[in-house]
Amino acid sequence: MSSLEAQLLGRIAEAGPMSLADYMATCLMHPEFGYYTTHDPFGTAGDFITAPEISQMFGELLGLCLAQVWLDQGRPARFLLAELGPGRGTLMADVLRATRGVPGFGDAAEVHLVEGSDALRAVQRRVIAGDVIWHDRVESLPDGPLFLLANEFFDALPIRQFQRSGDGWRERVVGATAGRLAMGLSGAVTRPALAERLEDTREGDIVETCGPAEAVAAEIGARIAGHGGAALIVDYGDWRSLGDTFQAVKGHVPVDPLAEPGAADLTAHVDFEALARAASPAVHTRLTPQGVFLERLGIGARAEALARNLSGPALETHLAAYRRLTEAEEMGRLFKVLGLYPQGTTPPPGLEP
Ligand code: SAH
Repeated sequence: MSSLEAQLLGRIAEAGPMSLADYMATCLMHPEFGYYTTHDPFGTAGDFITAPEISQMFGELLGLCLAQVWLDQGRPARFLLAELGPGRGTLMADVLRATRGVPGFGDAAEVHLVEGSDALRAVQRRVIAGDVIWHDRVESLPDGPLFLLANEFFDALPIRQFQRSGDGWRERVVGATAGRLAMGLSGAVTRPALAERLEDTREGDIVETCGPAEAVAAEIGARIAGHGGAALIVDYGDWRSLGDTFQAVKGHVPVDPLAEPGAADLTAHVDFEALARAASPAVHTRLTPQGVFLERLGIGARAEALARNLSGPALETHLAAYRRLTEAEEMGRLFKVLGLYPQGTTPPPGLEP
């Protein structure tokens, strides 16, 4: 049994079952034994691979999209170029390189990263050239026009799950059975946010909520509405969450989320409706599949241009990366993009209001 599992079982023995959110936050961000605090989980040798790690085209196009919004908003002379959960820093490095061709953008940009893992901060420091300011939380970003990216950040934030029981709800919690972690159900709970979900659920259905995601969206939305800027949020999920989407991945395969706390990545699908609502008074674009978004931004032409200098296995890898990012059966449809921007301004290119 791992030290983290022993700690969790000790806590449950003392204080009773814990919410899924407590479990998830502890497994991912525990200072000593957390998944992100102890690992660099990305890439073929790691547990999963993300869009910026698949191809430089992802970061290039997101960067140019933000640069266009910066131009549309009258080129603010100083702005925050921010990223939430930058992982290995690849996305930001690609954004900075691709936007070098946009006069004035790089000089006006101040790079801010929100990252909770010291291990990953060290990787980001090596990969991103120039000055970078790190933050533990979105709240500590300074004021100013905010141009923000978040790829696979919100799916890592701790969720709670509630199961419909008659006209009420019970919370799904992590307890212990025979000395091992096990899922259980709380007694009846009342939460105002769940009342309206009585309309679109049936007995036994599971609804997920993510308070931290809504708090982050509210903070970003207020800043964008107040100071200008835009956010591009990319993740898997849908307009409204229904059902159990809590999942664990280790070595590129799904595993039992309770089996090895701290050793597997834990995520849940993102409820984009909840983010969009929380971000008001900033307005939001339509939720757009990643494949559609990248094609509208011209990934086809970019892929062809890069292909001209490649041959053999490098060309095969490049074409496979292009398909992986865009095709519906790959990441093209599962992953969605939501844009946030100030009311009365032009929405980010590739996303319709
Ligand atoms: N955006 C990157 C990495 C995604 S993994 C990519 O696309 O490759 C999730 C990232 O969010 C990691 O960098 C992780 O350390 C960070 N993270 C997760 N939960 C966090 C939290 N609560 N606060 C700050 N950073 C967090």
